[in-house]
Amino acid sequence: MESAPEPHVRGLNAADGNIGMGIDYRPRHLSPSSASLYQQCPRKWRHRYVDRLPDPPGEPALVGTFAHLILEHLLQLPEGQRSQEAAKTLAREYWPEIEQEKDYQALDLSDAQAKAFRWKAWKAVAGLWLLENPDETQVHATEHEVQVDISGVPFRGIIDRVDVVDEQLVITDYKSGKAPSDRFKAGPLKQVLLYAAAVEASFGQRPLSAQLHYLGQRTLGVRVTPSNLGDVVQELATTWSSLISACENNQFDTSTGPLCAWCPFLAECPDGKKEVIARNEAGSVRADAPGLAIICADAN
Ligand code: SF4
Repeated sequence: MESAPEPHVRGLNAADGNIGMGIDYRPRHLSPSSASLYQQCPRKWRHRYVDRLPDPPGEPALVGTFAHLILEHLLQLPEGQRSQEAAKTLAREYWPEIEQEKDYQALDLSDAQAKAFRWKAWKAVAGLWLLENPDETQVHATEHEVQVDISGVPFRGIIDRVDVVDEQLVITDYKSGKAPSDRFKAGPLKQVLLYAAAVEASFGQRPLSAQLHYLGQRTLGVRVTPSNLGDVVQELATTWSSLISACENNQFDTSTGPLCAWCPFLAECPDGKKEVIARNEAGSVRADAPGLAIICADAN
C-alpha cells in the first residue's frame, strides 16, 4: 500500500495567502507516493502537499488500510502461529481502531455497509494465503521505516515487509487494489525497487528481489539488479530536481489526461475541467467518474 508518510513542506501554505512572497515550499523528503504523484501532475502534487486541499481516502483505500493493519500484526507473530484464525482474532482486536478513524466515520456507513466493509477487508487478508503461506515466511521486519539519502534525494518511506530468503533480503509490499496486467506492471514495481535502493543505502546490503502481493490476485516480482536500481534512482533524482525547481519558482504545471476525471482537485483546476469536458464529448469518460458531476454542476 501507499503507506509512506506525507512530505513535510517547509513554510506556510498557499491557503495562508503567501504565494510569491518567498515562502519555501520544498519538501524535506520524498516518498515513492509523493514522487509518483508529482510525475503524474505537478499541480496535483501542489494541491495535496502545499495547499493541503481535502482529499478523503475513500472506502477502497480504508479497506486496504484495515487489511494492512491485520497483516502487519499477523506477520509479527512467530512462525507457526500465523493462521487465518489468528488473523480473524486480530481483525476483531483492531476493528475499533478503524471505526474511530475520522475518515472512516466520514463514510457514514449503515450497519449493513459496515459489515460489507469488514468482509471486503477480510477477503483481502485471506487473499494472502492464495499467494504464499505466511506461516513459513521468514520475516525480518514489518512496517519498516527507511529515511536515507539516495543519490542526493532525501528519501523516506515505510516498507510493509522485509523478508529473508536464503539469507538474503526480499522487499514485500501489499496491494489491495486491482493488479495490473503485465503490460503495466513496470510502474508499480518501481516503488518496491526504490525501497530496495533505500535498504541498500541504509544497510549496505542489496536485496535479492522485490515483490508486490496483490492480495487475492497475483504477485509481481522483480530480481534486484544494479541496472534496474540505477534506473529508478536516476528517475527519483530527476523528479526531485524538477520538484525543487517547481517549488522555488512556485510553478506547478498541469498535466492533463484521463485521470483528470478522477482527480479530487478537479473543481480547482480549469485545465483539468477543459480536459474532462473534451473527453466526455468524445465519449471516453467512464460513467462512474466523479469528475462528471463537477463539470455537470458547472454547466447548470
Ligand atoms: S484535474 Fe488534471 S491537470 Fe488538474 S490537478 Fe488534477 S490531474 Fe492535474
